[in-house]
Amino acid sequence: MDTSHILYGFTDLKNLDSHGPIVINKAKGAYVYDRKGKKYFDGNSGLWNSVVGFDHPKMIATAQKQYEELSGYHALFGRITEPAIHLTNKLIEVSPFDEGKVFFTNSGSEANDTAVKLLWFMNSHKGMPKKRKIITRYNSYHGVTIGAASMTGKPYNDVFGLPLPDFIRSACPHYWKFGNEGESEENFSLRMAQDLENVIAKEGADTIAGFFAEPVMGAGGVIPPSKNYFQLIQPILKKHNIPLIADEVICGFGRTGNLWGSITYDIKPDIIIASKCITSGFFPLGAVITGEEITKELIEASYAAEEFPHGFTAGGHPVGCALALQAIDIIIEEKLVENVRKLEPLFMGGLKKFEDMEFIGEARGIGLMGALEMVQDKKTKKPFDGHMNMGERVANKAIEKGLICRPLGPSIVLCPPFITTPEQIDFMYSTLKETLNEVFNEIKISN
Ligand SMILES: *Cc1c(COP(=O)(O)O)cnc(C)c1O
Repeated sequence: MDTSHILYGFTDLKNLDSHGPIVINKAKGAYVYDRKGKKYFDGNSGLWNSVVGFDHPKMIATAQKQYEELSGYHALFGRITEPAIHLTNKLIEVSPFDEGKVFFTNSGSEANDTAVKLLWFMNSHKGMPKKRKIITRYNSYHGVTIGAASMTGKPYNDVFGLPLPDFIRSACPHYWKFGNEGESEENFSLRMAQDLENVIAKEGADTIAGFFAEPVMGAGGVIPPSKNYFQLIQPILKKHNIPLIADEVICGFGRTGNLWGSITYDIKPDIIIASKCITSGFFPLGAVITGEEITKELIEASYAAEEFPHGFTAGGHPVGCALALQAIDIIIEEKLVENVRKLEPLFMGGLKKFEDMEFIGEARGIGLMGALEMVQDKKTKKPFDGHMNMGERVANKAIEKGLICRPLGPSIVLCPPFITTPEQIDFMYSTLKETLNEVFNEIKISN
């Protein structure tokens, strides 16, 4: 096959040239198959999102039925479809909000951009056009559109000349990596909260429109917050009238063992950003869910402006909405969040055991999301030289053995689907163990 016309995203093209892409042609349950028929356990649920099983019959039936009834329609200028209506009601019902509104997008990035525009729109209506700065954390991931990339706290967006002005950062609450020598985790969290206070003081609270945070940082390397972090920062945000927007694109719908990461960490968000698991990977769909306070302000601003001048052609697509309704029903009816919680001791317990290995610096995670971070020296936490491509090497070898896991810088990310069985977790870890042993032996020989 001629694959020369593909421009791969987030891919080291030189590295890929040496072994070529994996062409996935088929999937069943938690497994995917390449074009030669080789079977892989997908330890990454596609890209975090395919959690109810790739071939769930109810999902397929729902798509077929919806396509037959109404294959597509927009949700703008007062037009709407029934699946979109039902999904807004369902999302408010399962959200932590008593009341609210839902805005549909096609992706998580667009949902974050939409939330930023919502905040700017409201503040400009309130006569506070200067209240527009957005705070996010270093290492956070919020997407790739120009707004979402400006929010993303990773250095690779420098190549685009981003972030845009008004997008600012606070510290990343990763205790293992950024804790000082002798500093307790509690004191570290206090320092993180102080950092946020400092950023707000420096910029001026009346210039800040919102603080966006993932309950657990996902693409930053699966980083659960340090102890009490959210308990310490929420009063600070409240005191300064800064809305807290929970980017639940990864955590939403069960990943952390509760329907929302905000429940797991006792976060009281003003807005929730959802995507990924919302359709279990069957359709591109994102949603901005506004809580009571923001909704009130939003309605007022929309009346004054005559409209919220924003919307995507395919946002609220009836097939996507029907699939999201079905995926949420499956997650609830088949008790998949409970399954995540049931598997957590096995998943996290097994992960933690890797910390005994020579080059594993930290094993971290929660629910069914975890990462192993490799280091050259466990004591000093000195990372491996980037050119050694440790993550890629491990992932490529695991793939040969039938396990898909994802390299993320110096870390290996695991986030199996919610339908995973204990036997599949055993397979995942025995395969990974074998893989790491081989890779670590290789580097010891070459040293
Ligand atoms: C994946 C992700 C996004 C971006 O979603 P896309 O659908 O890829 O645009 C935003 N926020 C978080 C936390 C994500 O993990």
